[in-house]
Amino acid sequence: MKKLSVRDCDLKGKRVLLRADYNVPMDEHGNITAFMRIEESIPTLKYILDQGASLVILTHLGRPQGQRVSAMSVKPVAQVLERYFDIKVKFAEDPLAEETLALCQGLQPGEIVLCENLRFYPGEEANDDDFARKLARLGELYVNECFSVDHRSHASTVGIAKYLPTYIGLLLEKEINALTKVLENPDRPLVAIIGGAKVSDKIKILAKLLPIVDKLIIGGGMANTFLAAKGYNMQKSLVEEAKIGFAKEILDGAYADKIYLPVDVRAASDFSNDAVIKVVPVDAVPLNYQCLDIGEKTVAVFATALADAKTILWNGPMGVFEMSHFAAGTKDIAKIVGDADAYSVIGGGDSAAAVRSIGMEKGISHISTGGGASLKFLEGKELPGIAACLDKVGKD
Ligand code: AMP
Repeated sequence: MKKLSVRDCDLKGKRVLLRADYNVPMDEHGNITAFMRIEESIPTLKYILDQGASLVILTHLGRPQGQRVSAMSVKPVAQVLERYFDIKVKFAEDPLAEETLALCQGLQPGEIVLCENLRFYPGEEANDDDFARKLARLGELYVNECFSVDHRSHASTVGIAKYLPTYIGLLLEKEINALTKVLENPDRPLVAIIGGAKVSDKIKILAKLLPIVDKLIIGGGMANTFLAAKGYNMQKSLVEEAKIGFAKEILDGAYADKIYLPVDVRAASDFSNDAVIKVVPVDAVPLNYQCLDIGEKTVAVFATALADAKTILWNGPMGVFEMSHFAAGTKDIAKIVGDADAYSVIGGGDSAAAVRSIGMEKGISHISTGGGASLKFLEGKELPGIAACLDKVGKD
């Protein structure tokens, strides 16, 4: 780990400004409907408070586009936080107000202030320097605990770090360790499973992974483009014509032996859960059908490829898992990954949502909290939010 973590600094008596990701789903009455993001931050918050510090928490929620949108207030998060701590969590409606500054400066060790949605202010996404400087006044040091937005240069990811010593939080540390282990120090064989909708979204990740993995399993919608490149008629399936050339290059290239593609598919008469479904070999997709999931024979092929894996990286579902009749492939692969005697990492976003929505998290070593961020990280890019945190000097 090249970055200083919150564990590396003396927090006693300090006012810690922390950027969390409480971008939680809410129903139309403002009730939070999934608590995972809050729960995952609790060990870091507890750690900081236990060291004798106070906490000022920043977050975003949704896309209010720089406007105050009451349905996107993060106030309900304060009530949820109170369930974990034996204190009232104070809420600051305007993080820029002088009274908020006074409130924060008067905090006693163990106390918490939660600030209103940062994205109510245009300065957040524009990384406005004055906005960042004003936020920085609220704390004496800064903790970045928002991996899911660290691929963006916002005031709260990079701007504040200009004004305060910035450390990585425990959750961010876990993310960096897990993804770095896969890329730099995996136990082998390292097997990557790449799925999801489109090749074009994952070209960079494919290019990064191909040289370093021992096997690359391709499923989901993007497999269609590879199958089309092999000459199969994919009928009405999602195929990116413009990427067939790229797929051919890979299939004819130096790493061709590493690649595993579907051998059968769940083809549907329509993009609908009520469609007529036929499980067919990839060379026999019925006229006007579309492939929306992998078939059982493919699961068996992929299972064999995964059988000796010591490290597994998975990004992207194997089918249109949002529809129950096309979730089987993703479920089966999730079970195989969960049962594998391997260190397993799932990229955030749709893959994590897929695994969670079907309750298959068991046995997975690490499920990333960031979709776009984990993709960028796995592409080998340095995320600006992480780059802005303090480097360790003279250690490891
Ligand atoms: P991604 O964000 O690239 O991981 O893509 C996730 C999306 O890919 C999900 O919404 C899936 O429904 C979709 N997807 C997976 N397999 C297919 C497929 N065979 N055809 C169309 N969409 C798919």
